[in-house]
Amino acid sequence: MKKKIVFALFIPSLVLSSILVYSKYLNNISFMSFTMTDSILVWLITLGLFVYYLKLEQKPQLVPAAMSNEKKKCEEKSKDNNKPDVSFRDVAGLDEVKEELQETIDFINHSEKYLKMGAKIPRGILFHGPPGTGKTLLAKAVAGETNSNFLYASGSEFVEKYVGVGAKRVRTLFEKAKKDAPSIIFIDEIDAIGTKRNIESNNEKDQTLNQLLVEMDGFNRSNTVIVIGATNRLDLLDEALLRPGRFDRHIHIGNPNVHSREEILKVHTKDKPLDPSVDIKKIAKKTHGFSGAQLANIANEAAIFAVRNNKHLIDITHFEAAIERVVAGLEIKHPSVLLKEKNMVAHHEAGHALIGNILKINMIQKISIVPRGQALGYVLNFPDEDRYLFTKNELLNKIKVLLGGRVAEQIIFNEITTGASNDLEKATEIAKQMVCKYGMSSLGNVVIKENYRFKYNKIENEIKRIIEECYDDTMKIIEENKIILEDIAEHLLEKESISGEELDSIFNKHKYQLKNAT
Ligand code: ATP
Repeated sequence: MKKKIVFALFIPSLVLSSILVYSKYLNNISFMSFTMTDSILVWLITLGLFVYYLKLEQKPQLVPAAMSNEKKKCEEKSKDNNKPDVSFRDVAGLDEVKEELQETIDFINHSEKYLKMGAKIPRGILFHGPPGTGKTLLAKAVAGETNSNFLYASGSEFVEKYVGVGAKRVRTLFEKAKKDAPSIIFIDEIDAIGTKRNIESNNEKDQTLNQLLVEMDGFNRSNTVIVIGATNRLDLLDEALLRPGRFDRHIHIGNPNVHSREEILKVHTKDKPLDPSVDIKKIAKKTHGFSGAQLANIANEAAIFAVRNNKHLIDITHFEAAIERVVAGLEIKHPSVLLKEKNMVAHHEAGHALIGNILKINMIQKISIVPRGQALGYVLNFPDEDRYLFTKNELLNKIKVLLGGRVAEQIIFNEITTGASNDLEKATEIAKQMVCKYGMSSLGNVVIKENYRFKYNKIENEIKRIIEECYDDTMKIIEENKIILEDIAEHLLEKESISGEELDSIFNKHKYQLKNAT
């Protein structure tokens, strides 16, 4: 508005100034009764208006049009939120999390009981953990279990260019939640507005965060409104947001263990026609490290594969294809890989499989040289059981398996390729963690933070030493078992992919030549 007024004054003032210049200097006739002082005054005013206009142009503004739409937007949005038809029965596994949330549910369902005792209703719960682990689903289930309104907002929706718009959105959201209480406000990706204020100072972001803090303080005891925040980066959040009275309950939701994976797969296959060959327990074992969202995706992909193959039942091959699709990406139907490259890829993958099998790292399910996604070949493997602790030796062995591909190229072709890039990245990351996080290097039992600059060279040298030692060990194992490597590669070139059982039979054939260098 201010900008429009300044602009409206500036235009006539500019016209008048131009006429005065024209009449005084170009035509040499005096315009009306303007003296020289009057003319100078008009020019100064024009210049002043121009400068002021430019300043307004640069300054972040409150945008009334955007502001007035906020309420409308929020109302429109909340129409499709409301009471979700989701309960704890739809959330598989996560038993300890559900137990922890029971108290909150009881607070909402029987708030009088707690209020009589003078207890305060918890205001904020923070879910943190990797993506796709069921944070949104759980928040919806809390709303479903308590028959509360569910108001969803994503942190990024509050991030705006114009000062005050984000804060206004927060205010409108909380007003709506209080009006429709009991309500659950779910703020996904809360780190988009809640990062530590000293890290990145941004006027608009700070105002939005401040408004969120004010709103969380402003509930009175009869408002049954609970705010659930979700983030993948708890470490980035501002302390003010985490202090008691705000998001003081932190619940970590990690990737599911084998039992939870089985439960999640059961939930997502319960309405699907399964062939008796499908053993959900076995699939759960083969999907180590998968999130709930990936498991839901596998069940869906398996159903799609079954339809594509004109089957009435989903069988185990459809699940296997779905797992491969999720892990390795889309199969390239007509790859244009040169024969020479195929040969190199076969030996590279055989290198991984050979070392993996000898060092007993993970169960190998399949080795393939059929390109998928960006990979020209891959080894599909999974741990025998869920692991939470690794010894130093196991980490070194993991590095050796990763280096197996590059070492095989070096031994067979006396040449190395770009195909090992991803392996090297992973191997370096493990070595870095061994040095900086786990105290498993000659730098001692210390944790080294990223900003310890003075030690940077020492860290790099240590990482290099670990990788080089592992490389030498891998080289020794492959040299000694070159016959087996060649046999695996030959099978791969002939059949394009071999199963775990076929790999075992190749090893069986060579059991008397097998040399375990460790
Ligand atoms: P993000 O951090 O990326 O927002 P999220 O943790 O909020 O992810 P959700 O959106 O809740 O994950 O989960 C995605 C989907 O994965 C769900 O809709 C559901 O189908 C499935 N899912 C995840 N965890 C579970 C679970 N424990 N039980 C059943 N389904 C699950």
